[in-house]
Amino acid sequence: MANITLKEVAHSYRGESQDDADFALKKLDLTWRDGGAYALLGPSGCGKTTLLNIISGLLIPTRGQVLFDDQDVTRLPTEKRNIAQIFQFPVIYDTMTVFENLAFPLKNRGRTRAEIEPRVIELAKMLGLENDLYSRASNLTADAKQKISLGRGLIRKSVNAILFDEPLTVIDPHLKWQLRSQLKALHKKFGFTMIYVTHDQTEALTFADEVIVMYGGAIVQIGTPEDLFERPAHTFVGYFIGSPGMNVLPCTLAGSKARIDGFEIELGRTYRESGSRKTEIGIRPEYLGLNPPGGEGLPVKILKIDDIGRHKIARVALNGCQLNVIMTESAELTGDMGSLVIDPAHANIYIDEHLVEGSAP
Ligand code: ADP
Ligand code: MG
Repeated sequence: MANITLKEVAHSYRGESQDDADFALKKLDLTWRDGGAYALLGPSGCGKTTLLNIISGLLIPTRGQVLFDDQDVTRLPTEKRNIAQIFQFPVIYDTMTVFENLAFPLKNRGRTRAEIEPRVIELAKMLGLENDLYSRASNLTADAKQKISLGRGLIRKSVNAILFDEPLTVIDPHLKWQLRSQLKALHKKFGFTMIYVTHDQTEALTFADEVIVMYGGAIVQIGTPEDLFERPAHTFVGYFIGSPGMNVLPCTLAGSKARIDGFEIELGRTYRESGSRKTEIGIRPEYLGLNPPGGEGLPVKILKIDDIGRHKIARVALNGCQLNVIMTESAELTGDMGSLVIDPAHANIYIDEHLVEGSAP
């Protein structure tokens, strides 16, 4: 096993180019620590598969190097990289039994039956395939076939990393949850480096210790699920993580105050003048509160309240700005006005979409 480093890697499917827009993957530097559980999260088309294929060797990057520890593997074919990759759709041998499918990667490397059998049985049990071991793979459901693919990826103990490219797409929703926790358990048990690609924040946040968020071919933040929630480094991360996402409103800064559409709030930290640059304040709906009109807070018009079971989500208008508020207490609000309470300790300031830090006043 090894640390995997991407050094100034960039990829253009059109070949070398001077036009930045040609690059599906913008220049990035990143090390995946041996044994880490990572999620690569971002919307469709942001470059996740491109990045994964560069690690596995299915793609040679237009620029930069891929290192496994100190060894440059940039041009090494996939077979020589000792990487397992699991794709969106099952890749199995239909004519073989489940046992033969799972055993294949080991048999191919000349392992004996005595080594293979216990490992196949162990994995089959973990994946819930033990009753189908001697059935032909072609007779199984799509779910079971994808479990075989997962098993084939996990069967070898000595891989450098296991790459999952949205592997639960074809899996039934209730099984998804179960498989995701099994993958997490397998990671704990075997300690492989795992990189799990998804566009689903719940999948990413439950699987990974560290989440890499991509947007438009670039990495916008690397952090723990908590970092992404509390301190989104980019407004995109704020929108993308959370349900509903972070409220992002235009503002102007004056020392430790932010002015939002005529209202002023004290931030408790001092910011430099942002001049003509795009300046925004981001506050998660969880950190807003709603009082009855006339109470503490800024006057808002309540546009609607959705009851989603666990809590209610209010859509409110502060002059021309609209925000979502998650209401934990069932404050009795009658009429269409309320008072919005903002927790300044959880307000983030963004200049040109990027988080900026304030200093103690
Ligand atoms: P994701 O996996 O995040 O959905 P991809 O890495 O597949 O994104 O794609 C990133 C960008 O590269 C997209 O704009 C996509 O259209 C483009 N792309 C992907 N594969 C190819 C290819 N083989 N040839 C040309 N463009 C591609
Ligand atoms: Mg993809």
